Amino acid sequence: MNLLKDTITFLGTGGARFTVAKQLLATGGVWMNLGDVQLLMDPGPGSLVYAIKHKCDPTKLDGIILSHKHLDHSVDINVMIEAMTEGGWKKRGSVFAPADAFNNGAVILPYLQNFPERIDFLEEKKKYEVGDVSFTTPVKHIHQVDTYGFVFQTPRHKFSWITDTKIFDSLAGHYRADLIIINVLSLESRLPVDHLGLPDAEKIIKEIKPRIALLTHFGLTMWKVKPWEIEQRVSDDTGVRVIAARDGMVFDLDEVDQT
Ligand SMILES: [Zn+2]
Repeated sequence: MNLLKDTITFLGTGGARFTVAKQLLATGGVWMNLGDVQLLMDPGPGSLVYAIKHKCDPTKLDGIILSHKHLDHSVDINVMIEAMTEGGWKKRGSVFAPADAFNNGAVILPYLQNFPERIDFLEEKKKYEVGDVSFTTPVKHIHQVDTYGFVFQTPRHKFSWITDTKIFDSLAGHYRADLIIINVLSLESRLPVDHLGLPDAEKIIKEIKPRIALLTHFGLTMWKVKPWEIEQRVSDDTGVRVIAARDGMVFDLDEVDQT
């Protein structure tokens, strides 16, 4: 029997300026425990503090992934690199981020760039491996800075993460999986803002038809309607089980197999 598990801990579910500034919802990204591999994605404000609060140990991290360099995703990346490498004394772990996070208005401080064992730039259609976990970055998103989403594959599960982007025709097709996670910033789709609104998310869910769709990264208009109170309505509309992530929620990927 395989005792290894895949879980995702939502350190925070808030996104965008007002939610972050007022901490209406916590921020700080997600901690993924994928069997023996521990990955932190998008360490926004409070990531270190919330990680410790939820008993996630930064010195055990195998990698930090940055979808893009906007502050609500990246501001704690420096302190997390320092924590992962024990202040730079242990050269360990990997950092994956678009090239513009390292140069040209870098959010990763130059003196820290030598601390991890590996630095890898995210590029379209590339595959990355950490232990027995891999992920791909199938398509460059439409966002103000270089941004990628992810399709993760562990020995047990495949799941995809649609990070910040404006919706475009081929978007959903790149992220087919039984579990999809979507950053839903606003209640309405507000073009020309380069973000997904709830109607965009519903469109994507209907096209992919996963077993479970998890929503997170809520801005002010989503927070106001309380995402956990509309998940049933969205489930009914899409015919897919939709879960609105809560701050501190630990999602066990075995739930996908049971749905
Ligand atoms: Zn962004």
